Amino acid sequence: MIIIGFESSCDETGVALVCTERGLLAHALHSQIAMHREYGGVVPELASRDHIRRILPLTRAVLNQAGLPMERIDAVAYTAGPGLAGALLVGASVAQAFAWARGLPAIPIHHLEGHLLSPLLATPRPEFPFVALLVSGGHTQIMRVGGVGDYELLGETLDDAAGEAFDKSAKLLGLGYPGGPALSKLAQEGDAGRYELPRPMLHSRDLDFSFSGLKTAVLTRLRAIEKESGALDDAQRADLAAATESAIVDVLAAKAIKAVKQTGLKRLVVAGGVGANRHLRKQLIEAAARLKCEVFFPPLDLCTDNGAMIAFAAAMRVNAGLAALDSAGHAFTVRPRWDLEDICGPAAAPA
Ligand code: ATP
Ligand code: MG
Ligand code: FE
Repeated sequence: MIIIGFESSCDETGVALVCTERGLLAHALHSQIAMHREYGGVVPELASRDHIRRILPLTRAVLNQAGLPMERIDAVAYTAGPGLAGALLVGASVAQAFAWARGLPAIPIHHLEGHLLSPLLATPRPEFPFVALLVSGGHTQIMRVGGVGDYELLGETLDDAAGEAFDKSAKLLGLGYPGGPALSKLAQEGDAGRYELPRPMLHSRDLDFSFSGLKTAVLTRLRAIEKESGALDDAQRADLAAATESAIVDVLAAKAIKAVKQTGLKRLVVAGGVGANRHLRKQLIEAAARLKCEVFFPPLDLCTDNGAMIAFAAAMRVNAGLAALDSAGHAFTVRPRWDLEDICGPAAAPA
């Protein structure tokens, strides 16, 4: 079965074709980062309008890439939430219109399930069960994944997400938007030991996180340096970037390893945009190796939002018998706020 998937929950428009037997056939992406940069963050109304402009050209692009006519598509998948309401509505309405016009089933997908299963798009592919560290712009969670639709939340952030901590600290350092990748790049030139920053909740007994205090600590440190020596020079900026990255990565890695120990599982999967961070990858691989635990990551270009993970999650659901494949009724809704635990078990459809 060939599934076309649409992602439009935030500032990336993604479209992809996945075959339930053969895997990913084609995917195309447009990121709105450049458009939102001058505002220092995502402007929801601009995001929705841009999704409208991009989604059909991207759809044509994936069909061309795969060399398939539209008639070959058997089902349509789309991100139904969580995310920005207006942005979600673009993907949902295009998907439902597509399905209605062609008499196909439409499968609503939870965005985080897409992220969570995206490491299965890589080779080698992890087997279930595994521990998942989901680190994105809006979420930081540790889960026990028993199979498709079997997700148990073990811990999560009490305030900011890890990606947010990267982005907000990067903004303080004058690194633009979204600062995560820029901060990480600059950190490579810096000395992480020069400035001390806290590791929030590193020793707490649970698997939860808290990153909002770290951002304040970065600001306090920045002010102290400025008071002492005026504006930051390049070396100071790089050293503070390295210290920030180190603090975030230390906590993420420590809690992920703690979850591996607690569950006794020997597979750790990392998903979400922060999963692209090289320092995090290295630290996790080294720490997990000591426990004889394997670590899996999504392909680098599929860490941040994309359509491939949405079409792929739908394919996994179809293969597991967890997707409703009737093509009757195309009324739909989106769920800007939606807990992943709500889709555990057979009830995947947004209510
Ligand atoms: P959510 O999926 O929770 O709704 P999102 O879709 O915005 O959030 P993603 O696209 O998965 O999140 O990830 C984007 C985040 O990943 C941003 O915060 C970005 O700064 C961060 N990020 C991307 N690459 C890196 C990197 N190399 N190092 C650190 N952070 C990174
Ligand atoms: Mg994004
Ligand atoms: Fe995302």
